[in-house]
Amino acid sequence: MAMEDHIERILWTDEEISNRVSELASQISNDFKQFSSALVIIGVATGAFLFLADIVRKITLPITVDFIRVGSYGSGTVSNASPIISSDIKIDIKGKHVIVVEDIVDTGNTLSCLMSHLESKGACSVSVCTFLDKPARRKVHFELVGEGKFYRGFECPDYFVVGYGMDFAELYRNLPYVGVLKPEYTSDGCVATIS
Ligand code: 5GP
Ligand code: MG
Repeated sequence: MAMEDHIERILWTDEEISNRVSELASQISNDFKQFSSALVIIGVATGAFLFLADIVRKITLPITVDFIRVGSYGSGTVSNASPIISSDIKIDIKGKHVIVVEDIVDTGNTLSCLMSHLESKGACSVSVCTFLDKPARRKVHFELVGEGKFYRGFECPDYFVVGYGMDFAELYRNLPYVGVLKPEYTSDGCVATIS
């Protein structure tokens, strides 16, 4: 399997990720411990699935989990300015404290769409916990809801990254680390194939 050969450089190793996820989970457990109702964790599919799985096992409070799917990139590397919610949450979040778990905040379009959507469902607060943040690429400002907080794992330089849930053309999500693809695998018209 030559998947590793497609990676030019590793940005965060398995161990660095695990340590940082533990820190975020204890911060969240501490910040929400005074609330009596279960915290609602909403993962943004598909990219956040590994981050969500890791962080929920380290949060020590009662939680419920759901997923939402938002169309953004398709199979390229260019952000879509008008994200669409293609699969909504199933649980009732009225009056609940919600944390949206994301893989990356890039332009901010996805989160700004999600914030107004979740606020309209009556959440008491909506926080964001993103594994990576690319502040240099922000185009849209998003408001947290109520007393919502912003958590981030790492600040990401302006590269297109893959691994730890994040894909290029649906590949590389299962890499246990985060890395940058070699340019020949992200160039326009390239269909990533693993040989
Ligand atoms: P935004 O709407 O903030 O521009 O983009 C958010 C979504 O774009 C993220 O949730 C993520 O799925 C995707 N995205 C942004 N940057 C990257 C990147 O470097 N690599 C991958 N694989 N996805 C990215
Ligand atoms: Mg995402």
